[in-house]
This record gives sequence, C-alpha cells and structure tokens, in this order.
Amino acid sequence: MNVAPRSPGGWLLLDVRVIDPATSLDARTDLFVPADGSPVRHAEPGDASAADISECAGLVAAPAFVELHAHLREPGGEESETIATGLAAARAGGYGHVLAMANTKPVNDDPAVTRRMLDAARASATGVELLPVTAATLGLGGRACAPWAAQNSAGCVAISDDGKPVADHAVLAQVLAGAAALGIPYLSHAECPCLFTGPIHDGDAARAFGVQGIPTGCESRAVEAELALAEREGAAIHVCHLSTADSIRHLRAAKARGVRASAEATPHHLLLTDEEFLRRGPDTSLKMNPPLRPAPDRDAVVAALFDGTIEAIGTDHAPHAPHLKAKGLADAPFGAIGMETAFAVLHDRLVLGAGFPLADLVRRMTTAPAAIARIGAGRLFSGRPAVVLIAPDAPWRVDASRFRSKSRNCPFDGWEGRGRVLGTWMGGTWAASPA
Ligand SMILES: [Zn+2]
Repeated sequence: MNVAPRSPGGWLLLDVRVIDPATSLDARTDLFVPADGSPVRHAEPGDASAADISECAGLVAAPAFVELHAHLREPGGEESETIATGLAAARAGGYGHVLAMANTKPVNDDPAVTRRMLDAARASATGVELLPVTAATLGLGGRACAPWAAQNSAGCVAISDDGKPVADHAVLAQVLAGAAALGIPYLSHAECPCLFTGPIHDGDAARAFGVQGIPTGCESRAVEAELALAEREGAAIHVCHLSTADSIRHLRAAKARGVRASAEATPHHLLLTDEEFLRRGPDTSLKMNPPLRPAPDRDAVVAALFDGTIEAIGTDHAPHAPHLKAKGLADAPFGAIGMETAFAVLHDRLVLGAGFPLADLVRRMTTAPAAIARIGAGRLFSGRPAVVLIAPDAPWRVDASRFRSKSRNCPFDGWEGRGRVLGTWMGGTWAASPA
C-alpha cells in the first residue's frame, strides 16, 4: 500500500488496527494524527478534507516504542555510532524515545556531557527523543558518586554504570538512595567481576573454541545480591538484560517477597542461544555481555517475559565499528545492535511463532519500559504525536548493510520472517523504514 503522508493538515488513517496499551485499546478504527503537534485522536467528520489519507486495512498503528537500553557512543565512539545515526536507527525500528547509557568517552557523569548529547539529538532532526542516563559513579569507576541531581536537572532520566557493575555495595546503597531521592530509576548491570572470565558463555561453544567461558553465576549471583541490597534499603531496582534461569529464579523470589524490582530482556537473549556459535563459528556479532546462554536459560527468559516477571524489552543496542568486531572472538568488544530489528524478530518468532499476543509485545515496547523509566512516553493519545505503523503480514529479510546504524554487528543478519515496521510519524513528519 501507499503510505506517504506529507500533510500540512494532518494524517488520517482509515480502518487501522489501533493498539494503545495505555488506554487498553485494541480495535479497528479511523485515527487522526494532527500535523500541528497536538495529540493523536480518533477521527472526526471533516478531518478528511484537510488531511492526507491512508487506507490502512490490515495495518497496525501503535505508540512509537520506548528503548530502555541503548549505547549511542557519542561522545567519543563516533566511528561506531553517533547520536544522529543511533536515533535514525531507532526511528527506523519504530522507536520514538531512547535511553542512552553513560559509557561514552568522556563518561556521562557531568551535565556538560548531557547537554552536549541533547544538543546533538536536536541537531539530528530525527524527531526521536533522547533520554540520557547519568553514570552512577564518576568515570564508571565504582567509587565516587556522580552528581545525579545536577544530571537530572540537565535532562538525565535514570542512573546506571551500565557496561560495568557497581560492585561495592556501600556505594550501591548510596546509588539506590540517590535514585529514590530523585524519583528516577537505577538500572543495574548485574555482574560479578571475578566470574567475568571469557568472551562467551561457559558451555559447549567455549569448549569447542578452547576459550574460558563466563558462567551463569557471573550474572545470577550479582542479581541475587543486588536484589537483597535493594530489599534491605527499601529501594527500587531495575535489572537489565537478564540471561539466566537462576537470575529469573532470584527475581521471582524477590518479587514474591515484595521487593520493588523490574527487569528487561533483549531480543538476542530471547531468541538466540550459544549453540549459534557451533553453527556459525566464532562470529563476533554473537559476542555480547551478558553472553548468549544455552537453551534452558533462553527458555527461562522467554517464560519470564510471557508471565510478566520480565516486564519490558530493551535491546542493549551496542554498536561497534566493523574493524573493532573484526579483532576475533577474544579481542572484539562485547555487544550487538538491536533497534532496527527488535520488533520484526520478536513479532515473527514470539508472536507468530509462539503465540505471544501482539498487543502484549507492543505493551512491552511502550508503556512497560516507560513505566520503568518513569516517563510519560509510549501513550498514543497524549503528548506530541509519535506513531509507529506496522505491517504484521509483510515479509522481511534482515540486511544489515542497509541499516541506518553506523555499525553492522547484528546477530540477526540474514534472518527472514513476517511483520515489520512500515514507518513512523514523529516530529511532524512521516519516515518510511527500510523494507
Ligand atoms: Zn549492561
């Protein structure tokens, strides 16, 4: 179908399936997207006269997605991604709001860095909202606390040393208290440094390659300890990118005890296992932290997403320039890009392949991450229009060479499936996503 609104008067979507988790709406209707920045609303008589009109039978309109977890590399890592390319990748994947982690160079532990990032986001003119995350500790050093209040005033919406754990629990207790005082979340990268002992999971692939592996306990012991600390401090904690069955067991138990914990899962931990290395060889686009795990761990992550123990999707979009990823399994940096493929791969494998409701997938990519980040985004009928249009039946084949991201380290390259983002309306313009 032809969807190319130009719209001085707005955009009228006829007979579209509207999924808006915030209002529990999942119904076919006519939707009007004003061009003047006022909120999206149901169509009214007369809207057709001024608007571009798209016949949308068979398509889905939803709030633009909220990315809880991205690394945009600017400042300091512009060979791998810039804020402009990262936000363009986000938009291509249907995201309208992106939390950007602080492990830049310099680290984002200073309002001057936050302001520089926000300036770059505005200059990108992508229409995507950048939501910086302040470092928890100066330089991600795990010792001295970053100036969270000043960072929050400058625009940071969360606190995290993501990429590194806050291993000292006296410091972590201060971080939890600081986040609570500001009313913003702490995002935990749970990892026991002493067990972080290799490039991939400690399993068959590591043995086949003759490398030392990372045991599941590297994550799960830290998850258990951080949940216990949050409980003792009476503080909220959000646990990033869960990858092991034991971590999920600890999370379930903590939630049952009343600990205020939330969690996210990445598309790669939901859809891939370390067996992929045995099929593909030492492909560094499969090297990420936490690492891909065996099937029982992957199945536990999927089960936790299905039953709501894990509330949200976060991609952990982690671009690395091709020459960095070409250094071989031992030396290549950890991370995979994810924003341009997240919806498509999850829709095909979990919605079509495993019966996860589409409306629930939308919720896990909109209101669920927004609630964790404590931001008002991910709601179709409030705020400035940020709409994703989805073709649930459209076939796709991932071609990383066509990504908006500056990097190509995509573990799903070459995958095929059905259901993709057609494009987005935000910042008053329509942008088609690459087919
Ligand atoms: Zn992390």
